[in-house]
This record gives sequence, structure tokens and C-alpha cells, in this order.
Amino acid sequence: MNTYRIAAIPGDGIGTEVVSAGLKVLQALAKREGSLQFEVDHFDWGGEYYKKHGRMMPENGRSLIRNHDAILFGSAGHPDIPDHITLWGLRLAICQPFDQYANVRPARVLPGITSPLRGVKHAELDWVIVRENSEGEYAGVGGRVHQGSPLEAATDVAMFTRAGVERVMRFAFRLARSRPRKLLTVVTKSNAQRHAMVMWDEIASEIASEFKDVRWDKMLVDAMTMRMVMRPETIDTVVATNLHADILSDLAAALAGSLGIAPTANLNPERVFPSMFEPIHGSAFDIMGKGIANPIGTFWSAVMMLEHLGEKAAGDRLMQAIERVTADKRFHTPDLGGSAKTADVTAAVIDAIHGANT
Ligand code: NAD
Ligand code: MN
Repeated sequence: MNTYRIAAIPGDGIGTEVVSAGLKVLQALAKREGSLQFEVDHFDWGGEYYKKHGRMMPENGRSLIRNHDAILFGSAGHPDIPDHITLWGLRLAICQPFDQYANVRPARVLPGITSPLRGVKHAELDWVIVRENSEGEYAGVGGRVHQGSPLEAATDVAMFTRAGVERVMRFAFRLARSRPRKLLTVVTKSNAQRHAMVMWDEIASEIASEFKDVRWDKMLVDAMTMRMVMRPETIDTVVATNLHADILSDLAAALAGSLGIAPTANLNPERVFPSMFEPIHGSAFDIMGKGIANPIGTFWSAVMMLEHLGEKAAGDRLMQAIERVTADKRFHTPDLGGSAKTADVTAAVIDAIHGANT
């Protein structure tokens, strides 16, 4: 029996709804497999915790999850608290010190889901975006002075290091190599950003020489948005900076059918620290508490977690269950044009795990 210790951090808004659904599905999966089990510790960190304690997580929070095998995360974002406080106080407070530098975001049109792109049925859109997750535009370097005066000034400095760029490029080339098409697009903006992005491009070419079997091309980020919409079938694996990939991956999620479906893994590939798995969406204030959040993004993130834990067969079983359920329009939540509730989708996936006919 393989036992995995999971730290569950639902956070706020629909984060709590989808993580509790995700844990139900994982426990059902463990029961079905028989060969693995999850020991889940729950952490009530987030906006409500902040209101009581003045911080998003305890000061020793990271040491409490440091030795878990993986983290399942919901969302940081609370209607009463500024977004930069919730994001930096929780999600980035875990990602950065745990050096989860590779943020992997698959986008694929699942069975039963309709892409808003006319030409896309299924195979035409099958991408993985690798987002640099430790530096770049979200490094946290910058400052703000003379607040409230006409001289007020603020900077956010995009910081790129050779070590940081090399490791994410190598990760992306390796991932591209592991996929059938062996095709990587390096997204850049080296026409306008003439220092860091030029270094980014140079390092991409250097690392490319280690991966002669991978075809690669380079694309300016603005042109990339157009290519994603107009020629989606020409894209396979993509690597981009923290900011660029943040934006491109929400676009990818929408083109694949809904933000509610898209998963992500924040990986520390060297496994010095635990990695973190979460849907890419946020707290969704507009639908929180209504029981209609699409839990598929969290379930797919759980598949990525299983793959990371070395439980490929269990991950495949869960992915098949997810695809059987998305194929059935009765289980589409409102973001997909249906009227199913989070609980209906969760029950259907659990049935599919057990092989029941739904
Ligand atoms: P959002 O992702 O929360 O919502 C965007 C839109 O997509 C909304 O209309 C929402 O209803 C819909 N949506 C998102 N997930 C859905 C799901 N699972 N099912 C159905 N519909 C879904 O983005 P936002 O509105 O820009 O941000 C809200 C809050 O969440 C903010 O505080 C923001 O900072 C935070 N946020 C956190 C994370 C994170 O922790 N990873 C990511 C994004 C946003
Ligand atoms: Mn985002």
C-alpha cells in the first residue's frame, strides 16, 4: 500500500467548493485502486484566516506542509481583501519559497466540450503551456514611494536570471520531447524588452542545442495570441515568462471550453520541496456559495498530482472517468452551458471511477 500525505489548502470562494469535491474523488479513487491511500491534512488558510489573524497563513505555515507529498490548492482571493495581499500572502508565499518554478498548464478539448473556435473539434487543440513560476515579472522586485503626492512613483521590475531561465527552458524542452510531436514554441517579447527578453531568447537557442530531436520556434507574445486563435493546430508545447504565460493560459483555457476545466501543476522538479496542484481559476466571487462551480479543473489537477506521485495508472483511471463525464451533457455546469451542480459532477465522476454506467 502506497500512502501519500496530502496538504489540502482550499483557500477562499469556490476554492473551498472544488477542493472538497476533489478530495472526495481522490478518496473514491484510492478505494477503487486498493493499492494507494491518501492521508489528508486540512489547512484553513486564506481570507477568513486573515480576518482573524492578520495574515493569510501562520508564520510557520510552510514548515507544516514541508514534508507532505503534495499540496492540493483551491484559490487565494477574498471579496473583502485586496488581491495582492491574498495572492502574495498565500499562493506565492508557497510557490516561491518551495521553488515550484515550473508551472505546467495543459489545455485540451475534452469529449463533450465545445471550443469557441469554429475549426476546433478535438485534436486541433492539444497544448501544454509551461509558465516560468519563480521570477520574471512576478519576482516581487519593485517599490512605491511618495504615496498620495503628485510625485508618487511605483515600479515592478521584471527580473530574469540565467539560472532561472536555463532551468525552465530545459524543463520545457524535456516536456516537449516527451510528447509525440516534439514541438516547442518559445514565447518572447525581445523586440520591445531588449535586455531580459534578449537573454531569454539567447538561452533558448543554447538549450535547444541539447535537444536536437525537438523542433522549436520563437514567437512574439502578441502574435502568439493570434496564432492560438487562428492556427491552434500548429502549437504543441509552449514556454513563456510568468506574466506572458499567465495571460496565454487563461486564453488557452477559454479556447479549450472553460476556465473551470483547466488544471495546473506548480512543480519543484528536483523534488526538494512538495509540488502544488490547483485549478487555474480563482475564487469566482460571482458564483461562490451557489454550488455550481465546475470541479473538473480540480479533478484534472488531481490527475497531474497522481502522475507526479508516480501513480500513472490511477491518474489514467481518473482522467478516463473525467472524460466519460464531460462527454455527457447532463453533467455540464453553467459555465459549459448546462445546469449541473458541483455535487452532480462529483457524484458522476465517482460513479465513473467505479465503472458504473451513468
Ligand atoms: P476567476 O477565475 O475567479 O473568475 C473568472 C470568471 O470565470 C468568473 O466569471 C467565474 O465565475 C468563472 N469561473 C472561474 N472558475 C470557474 C469554475 N470552476 N466554474 C465555473 N465558472 C468559473 O478570476 P477573477 O474573477 O479575476 O478573480 C477572482 C479572485 O480570485 C480574485 O481575488 C483573484 O485575485 C483570485 N484569483 C486567484 C487565483 C489563484 O489563487 N490561483 C487565480 C486567479 C484569480
Ligand atoms: Mn492567472
